[in-house]
Amino acid sequence: MMNPLLATDALPNYDLIKPEHAEDAVHTQIIANRAEIEKLLASPSVTFEGLVKPFEVLQHRLSQIFAPISHLNAVANTAPLREAYAKCIGLLTAYHTEVGQHTGLAAAYAHIFSTQKLTLSAAEQRIVMNAIRDFRLAGIELAAAERNRFGTIMQALARSQSLFEEHVLDATRAWSFHATDSTQISGLPPHIIDQAQRAATAAGKPGWLFYLDQPTYVAAVTHADSRALRKLFYEAWVTRASDTGPHSPSYDNGPLLTEILTLRHEAATLLGFSNYAELSLATKMAKNTDEVLTFLRDMAAKYLPTARVEFATLSAFAGFAIEAWDVAYYSDKLQQKEHNISEEALRPWFPLTRVLPGLFQIIEKLYGVSITERSGVCVWDPTVRYFAVADSSGTEIGGLYADFYARQGKRAGAWMSEITVRKQIFGSLTIPVANVVCNFTLPAPQASALLTHSEVVTLFHEFGHALHHLLTTVDYPSIAGINGVPWDAVELPSQLMEQWAWRAECLPLISGHVDTGEPLSEAVLTDLLATRRFQAGLASVRQLEFALFDFVIHSQPAAPKTTDSIYGLLESVRSDISVVPSCPFNRFAHSFMHIFSGGYAAGYYSYKWAEVLSADVFAAFMERGIFDTITAKRFLASTLSQGGACDQMEAFVAFRGHRPDGNYLLRQDGVSV
Ligand SMILES: [Zn+2]
Repeated sequence: MMNPLLATDALPNYDLIKPEHAEDAVHTQIIANRAEIEKLLASPSVTFEGLVKPFEVLQHRLSQIFAPISHLNAVANTAPLREAYAKCIGLLTAYHTEVGQHTGLAAAYAHIFSTQKLTLSAAEQRIVMNAIRDFRLAGIELAAAERNRFGTIMQALARSQSLFEEHVLDATRAWSFHATDSTQISGLPPHIIDQAQRAATAAGKPGWLFYLDQPTYVAAVTHADSRALRKLFYEAWVTRASDTGPHSPSYDNGPLLTEILTLRHEAATLLGFSNYAELSLATKMAKNTDEVLTFLRDMAAKYLPTARVEFATLSAFAGFAIEAWDVAYYSDKLQQKEHNISEEALRPWFPLTRVLPGLFQIIEKLYGVSITERSGVCVWDPTVRYFAVADSSGTEIGGLYADFYARQGKRAGAWMSEITVRKQIFGSLTIPVANVVCNFTLPAPQASALLTHSEVVTLFHEFGHALHHLLTTVDYPSIAGINGVPWDAVELPSQLMEQWAWRAECLPLISGHVDTGEPLSEAVLTDLLATRRFQAGLASVRQLEFALFDFVIHSQPAAPKTTDSIYGLLESVRSDISVVPSCPFNRFAHSFMHIFSGGYAAGYYSYKWAEVLSADVFAAFMERGIFDTITAKRFLASTLSQGGACDQMEAFVAFRGHRPDGNYLLRQDGVSV
């Protein structure tokens, strides 16, 4: 039987895909790509048409085969799948290094650039220029021995980074808390208690069984009246995969922390950079390390006075010197007092059955595309849904899978990922398909999931990414959608989309009581919108602390040699900008997957950077009305549909008429500018 991953169907057949198919499919396609590349290079004349276009097709095919494997590894993780995934990563890393260091291919791209530049469109030029840059960043200019070393480093990094993530997942999964006394769990929201009761029953135990999935963790530290219980969850969370965490040392990421930083530093210096942060910026919108550090420190200085006042207010409200595990709990209580709002109490007004159609309506108003559910599409879990996206003429332009609920074996958090990237080369069109993944609590059978407003904002965020991916009009996959978009600009469409979840005009579209359909009252609506600025300073300095830690740790003249020195750097960042007292057992870096296993290494600053961009862009909408279709069309044309085909700063300035201005964000957060 044919390997289902090698089928050329539009959508993956998840019923047939098994872990044992993964390595074989990736291996088969790599062999085919390799042979095809040599064939293309053997042609007497290398041209854009004869080399770059077919090469785009080959790379697209490989990424399409790997996308379902990578996705399943994140949302339906099992031991065999994980093993298969690791093998694929090994194969792909070797292949990418080989292609990146292919002197014949690099020479061909350089030749095309010098001979054909003037005949190519701006997007086509960008593909060739990106490739030339990437050859350099893959070590093409190095002597043979160094080039081999560079390849070895890339392999080792890929392994260490996936092991880092596995440890966090395993450590999270291994932890549970069994309660038999209801007073212990007082304050926890009913849906979390119900879920824990079902888990206990399933495990043949009385009482309640809590796991460390993200919604449960957040609920525990925000709502548990028992300070001991909050501390228990907090400590379990911040010591995951560390030397002091539960199940240590099986999942201790300590050795991997130093190993990953050392390998990155060596790779950067081999390429002639002073440190990994410089290497990271070679593909970003920000131009140099000073620009990023200045940006982060300036923003921190602006937010700090507000954050200090907010923390003092919180401590005064609690009536004692609060610790890290008290912050969420007292913040929630203070927010209820100040704004009369409880996120939990508002859940019935945000049933997913209402939020989702409302979100689709907003997207349609802005960009003229309709999103319609399609049944009968093969999915990896019965709760997953599929939606077709059509333009105003009814033509299908993309699709998306929505996987909303938390479950065992699924990575925490929310994200958008690609299943298929748009491609229109040699007359054949492949439309883009996305995954939108969240970790909402699974409702009881037949019931609708009830979201907090924060979860609604998360949903908007991920759909913003999905729109970037799906509304692209770029034909070449390497620069279509989010591909080729610098990391520090990639959060612009997602953070921009969040803005509509915070507008009084939109809330009637996305809210309505689950039983009665009754809208939020005027007073509650006003209170809810006011919460946006609640503790904006504290949230921002926390985010800036992560960003500075990430950037500082990657811009050292030498990689830190011990976990103590890593935590020493974290402490020095914290002493500058943190307002919440640090707690001695915190092992936060040990599970900081964004930078140690994800793509945010020396790039975490991107969140704040893109927030500045999105607040500035949204100001353009506010100037003409948030549903102004002319503004939406201009944004679609300048940025959203262009993906990686344009220079992000030029696109921004073309849309806005000025360079990004942080004051829009500060004003939005209620911070004096
Ligand atoms: Zn995002």
